[in-house]
Amino acid sequence: MGGFRLTGAVRSVFVLFCFLISIIGAPGEQWGQITEQKAEFFAASDVADSQIELTKKWYEIAAKNWGNYGPLEFWIVGNNEVAAKTLDSKYCDIRKQKDPSIPIRHCLNRGHNFVSYAIRGNAGLNTRRNENEKWSGFIITMSAKFPGPKEEDYKSVVLHEYFHVYQHAHIHSRKRSLRESLHQQNPWWGEGGAEYMAQLLYSRQKGIRAGYLKERMERKLRSIKDLREGESIKDIPYGKRARIAYDLGAWFIAFIISKSSEEAYRVKFYKDLNSKGFEGSFVKHFGSSSKDLLDEFHNSFLKLSLEDKLKIIPSIN
Ligand SMILES: [Zn+2]
Repeated sequence: MGGFRLTGAVRSVFVLFCFLISIIGAPGEQWGQITEQKAEFFAASDVADSQIELTKKWYEIAAKNWGNYGPLEFWIVGNNEVAAKTLDSKYCDIRKQKDPSIPIRHCLNRGHNFVSYAIRGNAGLNTRRNENEKWSGFIITMSAKFPGPKEEDYKSVVLHEYFHVYQHAHIHSRKRSLRESLHQQNPWWGEGGAEYMAQLLYSRQKGIRAGYLKERMERKLRSIKDLREGESIKDIPYGKRARIAYDLGAWFIAFIISKSSEEAYRVKFYKDLNSKGFEGSFVKHFGSSSKDLLDEFHNSFLKLSLEDKLKIIPSIN
């Protein structure tokens, strides 16, 4: 067989091309573009159709308001561990179909599998976008508890997880370090945004009581007592004390929206994020550095009376 050789110049172009693909993704890739392609739904055998329908309904509300991004899969787990295990095998078959380079054993042995969701409940988003895997996309897992489908929170949690899809769809790079810096590694920014936008959108739906948003936001203020003297929410990592960053992070997003607009936060900031970076887009759209607004938030805003703090939260009728 004759060898396949590349001349120097062709090789340089080829190397540059491969490098660009590793950074920005393959040509024609739709990452970050609004798509017609709807989310796919998969559920364990013990999950009722009504729960699948409920999850679809709230996904549709989120996608209609914030744009439909993807590729997105929803995986819904019930209480039954055997059924969750069967769903895990199906999940690994789909992973293998979408990206044949993934070793199936590695997939089945993953730490946070569906059996663990059947046992512990909860919801989560797994964003797959990196330099090693071909397939990029979002995988949302919903379960039977914390929250379960009969709880009111289940609906806002679907919105919350979907807002993470929106956030990560607006970060184009496959490079982990760059993705982390644009999203911020600690939860205050990403979780605060997902939580506030989810509650805000939920509060605007038909039939939701007028005082809902203020009531939810008031409850989040309990975390102020857990904030240490001089501590910034920005420095709290995921883990035991993350709740403080989720709660007060949601307030921080409400605070910057009150100083700019919902459009500035939800649309414009994310639109400029790739080209300007986190701080560049922040300063452009919120008019100050993140440090200055965080200082003002901790030193002035959080010290206001409850009544004055609640003034920035819209009442919706
Ligand atoms: Zn979250």
